[in-house]
Amino acid sequence: MIHYSCDMCKRPISIDAENRYVVKIEVAQAIEDSQAVDDNTTDDIDHLEEIQDLLQQIDEHDGLLLDDGVARSLKCDLCEECCKRFLKNPLGLKPSKQLNFSNN
Ligand SMILES: [Zn+2]
Repeated sequence: MIHYSCDMCKRPISIDAENRYVVKIEVAQAIEDSQAVDDNTTDDIDHLEEIQDLLQQIDEHDGLLLDDGVARSLKCDLCEECCKRFLKNPLGLKPSKQLNFSNN
């Protein structure tokens, strides 16, 4: 019998009693003709850390590999609760913290 566990809350998912959701994430480097701005992006990227943490966890969990930063795809099992949370907030943004775009 196959056991699934939620990749977000680590709770075992009993597929008899509840729904299991699969989230597939594909990450690929965007290739631009002109170099995008590098310098002004530091303020609003802290949520990326959370994603990286999550991705790292998933990495460790499933042993998914990346092709040297070129592209990678991740597959996560989520329980219903975490799926809802994920859909509301797929990038792990903190709701209490507004993004501060300073338009100078
Ligand atoms: Zn969960």
